[in-house]
Amino acid sequence: MRAGVTSFAKRLGIWALATGLLAMLALISLELATNYLLDDLAQRARTTLGITIAGLKGALGRYRSIPQLIADNPGIRALLLAPASPRLVRAANLELKRINAAVQASDVYVMNVSGLTLASSNYELKTSFVGQNFSYRPYFQDAVSGGLGRYFALGTTSLKRGYYFASPVRADGRIIGVVAVKVDIDQLEQSWQSKDQVIAVTDEHGIIFMSSRPDLLFNSLRPLSEASRRAIRASRKYNEAELRELDLSPQGSTQSGLALVAVPAGGKPAEYLMQSRPMPAEGWDIQILSRTGAARTQAYIFSSAVLLVLLSTMLAAAFLVLRRQQLLERMRNQSEVQEELERRVKARTTELDETNARLLEEINERKSAEEELRKTQADLVQAGKLAALGQMSAALSHEFNQPLGAAKSYADNAVAFIDRGRIDEARENIDRISMLVGRMGAISRHLRNFARKPNVELTTVPVATIINDALEILDRRIRALNIKVRLDLPPDELWVLGGQVRLQQVLVNLINNAIDAMEAVYEPEVVISAAATGRKICLSVRDRGPGIPEEIAERIFDPFFTTRGVGKGLGLGLSISYNIIRDFGGHLQAHNHEGGGAEFRIMLKSAVNEPQKVQP
Ligand code: ADP
Repeated sequence: MRAGVTSFAKRLGIWALATGLLAMLALISLELATNYLLDDLAQRARTTLGITIAGLKGALGRYRSIPQLIADNPGIRALLLAPASPRLVRAANLELKRINAAVQASDVYVMNVSGLTLASSNYELKTSFVGQNFSYRPYFQDAVSGGLGRYFALGTTSLKRGYYFASPVRADGRIIGVVAVKVDIDQLEQSWQSKDQVIAVTDEHGIIFMSSRPDLLFNSLRPLSEASRRAIRASRKYNEAELRELDLSPQGSTQSGLALVAVPAGGKPAEYLMQSRPMPAEGWDIQILSRTGAARTQAYIFSSAVLLVLLSTMLAAAFLVLRRQQLLERMRNQSEVQEELERRVKARTTELDETNARLLEEINERKSAEEELRKTQADLVQAGKLAALGQMSAALSHEFNQPLGAAKSYADNAVAFIDRGRIDEARENIDRISMLVGRMGAISRHLRNFARKPNVELTTVPVATIINDALEILDRRIRALNIKVRLDLPPDELWVLGGQVRLQQVLVNLINNAIDAMEAVYEPEVVISAAATGRKICLSVRDRGPGIPEEIAERIFDPFFTTRGVGKGLGLGLSISYNIIRDFGGHLQAHNHEGGGAEFRIMLKSAVNEPQKVQP
């Protein structure tokens, strides 16, 4: 938050500084432009001033020597010598009129030494000078005293502004009169007309007597002293004209030291640049006043343009800075996102590494658990084997001890009977011993089957043939007990993978068991069937006996398990059969048939219908 305020204050400061700098630059540019444009204005005004002065000098120069020329005119001289002669007056008047027309002056006239006009070019006009006395005019006074008169004045009769040139007329070395030429100066002003410039010519008193602006005429640029006013009045220079003082309020000066003044223009005063140059020969000052308005407007426009350019530059710079900041910000954000991503990837990688390590650990644990299990299994198998061995030993010792004990008793009895001469009883006992030995032999024969090699090579065995062989072996018993045998076999011979003699032994066992189970059955029947299902062959032996009681179903395949009485069953048939079928890669299953009786199913691998070498 504090950082935000600081950065805001910093930005505000930068903006204020930039705005200040901008304003300063704009002001400087305004100042420079104003100075330049005012200097340019002054330069142009000076040029105009030069041209004006040259024009004035040229115009006046044309008339300067004319009075002298007229003074040499014999007619004029004759008039001055005999002023009362009407003929000479008329001749002089005519001559002056002619000269006036020739030199394009306003008036040309001749005065005697008293200042009385004897002849004049305007003798015919109402405003004729003839008879008028101009002795008060300084140009007359200059000329009558031998100099060349030059003077500006407002005509007393014509009320027109004129410039007077005068020259003495001499006869025999003395001055007998004065010739004067009046030049109308109205026409000289005509070329000065300009909207933005005022040209004014001031006399030695500072009074404007020529100007491009008529309203400024007879205004004094300086305060008039009483002496000046008196002198003016005496010379009737400005006749009855009212002399005012022009209020040119000073407005300071330009950088190059030129005066700036306010000149009344219509209603409100306008600012002008004032320059002047003297015309010493005439005793005049030529003033040129240049209106500064346009220059100042131009300067404002220029500085506005500069301001605009600076402002746009500043805005462009601000925009660029802003953009750069945004870019930096974006880059910063991106790098933050990148860092975050990298951090996450790193974290995830670490997690994965940890998970991997955990998995490895688990795998190792599992391996060792498996190892442990395998070991335990091996131990169990070993224990199982031992248990089975123990069980078998117990069963065997029971199976053998009982007949052995019985045989021992029979033998002892036989000895006793022989001793007593009871040979028949002794024979009976010995027969019983023989029977017991036979039984033990049978047990031992069966036990041999357990010692068979399990991996004897398998061969293809024809199913129907084996079934018939088995039935043939049991033929006597079947007949004796009147057992009905039903065969359900497919027309084509089926071939299974196994051993011929062993499969036959299994079938004999199963059929024997079926016959045993039907001891109490009225119409005993054994159904033997064979069928192919896919790549398997199913052989089935079914009887019509009571079926397998549920409580012993799980134990019937155990060795020595039998439900038949002592001396009848060995409990090895199913156990041996189960192992034989398993060795063939098949299964032996027992279940009770829905229609009654037990059914034993042998599932064997089908050996594709090709008879191969027949093995026992
Ligand atoms: P044994 O025939 O010597 O008793 P087995 O291993 O062949 O020995 O049979 C074990 C037991 O299975 C028999 O005692 C009998 O209880 C039962 N059993 C076998 N076959 C059948 C059958 N077809 N029906 C009913 N029970 C049977």
